[in-house]
Amino acid sequence: MTAQLIDGNALSRQLRADVTARVTALKARGITPGLAVILVGENAASQVYVRNKVKACEDTGMHSVLERWPATMTEAELLARVDALNADASIHGILVQLPLPAHIDAQKVIEAISPAKDVDGFHIASAGALMTGMPGFWPCTPYGCMKMLESIGYELKGKHAVVIGRSNIVGKPMALMLLQQNATVTICHSGTKDLKAMTLQADVIVAAVGKRNVLTADMVKPGAVVLDVGMNRNDEGKLCGDVDFEGVKEVAGYVTPVPGGVGPMTITMLMVNTLESAERLVA
Ligand code: NAP
Repeated sequence: MTAQLIDGNALSRQLRADVTARVTALKARGITPGLAVILVGENAASQVYVRNKVKACEDTGMHSVLERWPATMTEAELLARVDALNADASIHGILVQLPLPAHIDAQKVIEAISPAKDVDGFHIASAGALMTGMPGFWPCTPYGCMKMLESIGYELKGKHAVVIGRSNIVGKPMALMLLQQNATVTICHSGTKDLKAMTLQADVIVAAVGKRNVLTADMVKPGAVVLDVGMNRNDEGKLCGDVDFEGVKEVAGYVTPVPGGVGPMTITMLMVNTLESAERLVA
């Protein structure tokens, strides 16, 4: 069997076209959705991520502000910037790019962001809203995974989903979103005894670990849907996921590639969250 690809670039293009149309409609009502991105320090990967986020804003007609600060910025200075952006009516979403330098308490900074502008969905209020099924911003990466499942018309009710990884930004919110759609969810992590025994039972597998080849073909039930969140480098230095793509595509029903899978969806959902934050003002 050769799995069908879920193409994150193609789906992103579709979703971003819808975002662009809604931005245009909102602008006609006098509101331009605005995203502020704060980058502290010189982390090379972070520089690429923030550039892509700002470009996505430009492409969809949104307003964006990129604040670059030196790694010597103090926590108090950063908190003051977040406060100022909380009060700035032209800004509907605030994103502080992680990781932050070690002398800054990232959780404290995230909690300083107004939940109404928490478009990354990392604030404890956003996490609580997801947990209780209340309205709030969903973290972009698992939200993008849900959109990928939706794009193939996948009915989660009654299915068994296995999430590998339990981080606050991917694994745990992913599990809650799948649960909300009535899947039966198993969360695996580094303490899981027999990962293969778990994944072989799964109709849907989400790999969010950050290690190459965590999921190989012998661990996948024929026809399962496999979403690969991981971002790693292979021996040639090329971007690859957690899934042994070449092997797994011969067994799975659907699989997401890396690159071109979950990655572009993450930024797309950031655009969706920022737009929806602005739309709430006229709802
Ligand atoms: P993280 O915070 O490091 O969490 C990794 C999780 O994997 C932890 O829960 C860990 O378990 C678990 N784990 C580690 N080794 C394992 C093993 N051998 N078997 C089963 N579980 C294992 O990472 P993250 O932030 O969730 O990110 C995960 C990956 O997704 C990374 O590669 C990251 O770069 C990528 N990512 C991609 C996007 C995107 O847009 N595509 C966005 C975010 C993250 P413990 O909890 O027990 O330590």
